[in-house]
Amino acid sequence: LDPDTFAGESRAVIDFLAGYYRDVDKYPVQSEAQPGSLRRLLPDAAPENGEPVDGILEDAGQHILPGLTHFQSPNFFAYYPANASTAGFVGEMLCAGLNVAPFTWAASPLATELECVMLDWMGKLMCLPDRFFFSGGGGGVLHGSTCEAVICTLAAARDRALSKLTHEGILKLVVYASDQSHTTFQKGARIVGIPPSNFRIIPTSAASSYGLTAESVRHAVEADLASGLVPLYLCATVGTTGVGAVDPVGELGEVARRYGMWLHVDAAYAGSALICPEFQGYIHGAELADSVSMNPHKWFLTNMDCCCLWVASPAQLTSALSITSEYLNDVSCQETVDVVDYKDWQIALARRFRAIKLWVVLRRYGAAGLRAHIRRHVEMAKWFEQAVKADERLEVVAPRRFSLVCFRLRPRYEGDHAVDALNRKLLNAVNASGRAFMVHTVVDNKFVIRLAIGATMTQMRHVRNAFHLILEKATKILSP
Ligand code: PLP
Repeated sequence: LDPDTFAGESRAVIDFLAGYYRDVDKYPVQSEAQPGSLRRLLPDAAPENGEPVDGILEDAGQHILPGLTHFQSPNFFAYYPANASTAGFVGEMLCAGLNVAPFTWAASPLATELECVMLDWMGKLMCLPDRFFFSGGGGGVLHGSTCEAVICTLAAARDRALSKLTHEGILKLVVYASDQSHTTFQKGARIVGIPPSNFRIIPTSAASSYGLTAESVRHAVEADLASGLVPLYLCATVGTTGVGAVDPVGELGEVARRYGMWLHVDAAYAGSALICPEFQGYIHGAELADSVSMNPHKWFLTNMDCCCLWVASPAQLTSALSITSEYLNDVSCQETVDVVDYKDWQIALARRFRAIKLWVVLRRYGAAGLRAHIRRHVEMAKWFEQAVKADERLEVVAPRRFSLVCFRLRPRYEGDHAVDALNRKLLNAVNASGRAFMVHTVVDNKFVIRLAIGATMTQMRHVRNAFHLILEKATKILSP
């Protein structure tokens, strides 16, 4: 690694990316690439000799960029946002450039310590209870994704339960989630050995705004207890993926406590909004939870990847995940009892210095800047929601909580079975235009279009354009 070459080539990459951000709204937002199209363009094998970076960037610009789906386009409204930002990129450069691996405290002491401080900073911003802070006996860790974080909490919950059961007890353990919970819980439960038949998907309905009710969980748990099963783990979501629904954390916490279940609060998307006081009511009752997670890499101006996981009892997590190798025992700090070895808080050994990225984001924008970022998108979503409500052809399908609006073309008459097909057609027409990209979900058996506002460069005019695009396509689809 020659520092001068490093500086020169990095500058070329930054210029390349600056050009990309300048032009990103000129590409069709959703990729138009056909499966296998790149394989035809690339050689069959890696080059024998190295090539200059200029040529590689030129090929990336010519062959790769046009075939991407542009998550950073201001017209990207699909899934949930994946915020890139200047500070996020600067932080990511520091993370990649320093390239340390803080798997034990000794492996990179201040990288570990920065991570501990960042998790406390983030938790405080989100108004989490003290029990999730290092100072309150809990603590946090940065993972790459919610999926990894969830697997770790499921493993901790499993081992906590198995310590009171015989080993075959694993066959009795039951995990509860709603029909709106992320599928990551189902995958995680499978990975930690919970029988697939012991994963309960509890239905939600419009009556509870697609949130779980304590009553429905209690009902499911009682039925399992009557069959000799053991309730293990309950997932509560603040901002579900499909419709942005919110489960009642406090009420579910009481149910979880009563039946000895681990309660995890998944705030992957909406956790970012919890830094604003007006949304903090959604996390009330979190003192009854065992763990909470959120993804700064969604809506918090933090380039991928970054997921915060907090646990009330780090010992329960580390007793499930701790493993030692002689070469990891640093002779100089064997007597130290109170250091954090993050290898015991995650699946892998090696890990990235993500804390430095979060540090740069938090310092560069400050809490006030980050709140303004969230509120800007929420205001745009409110405008879009009102615009949908004002058009008699459209309807909002689920209550808007944050910056996601779920809407559809209304049925034209009672029992209109063609309405789903019309909405599918509308979504296809919008996406095929290249001028915006949205995805759908199905709720209450209805095909629903999701407009998830949150891309860093999205401004009000992009949301207005998206609305006019929807109207333009809807008019065509509805005309006889
Ligand atoms: N939970 C919720 C509510 C989500 O919206 C998502 C992704 O959109 C996830 C979990 C999965 O997150 P990850 O991709 O970090 O595993």
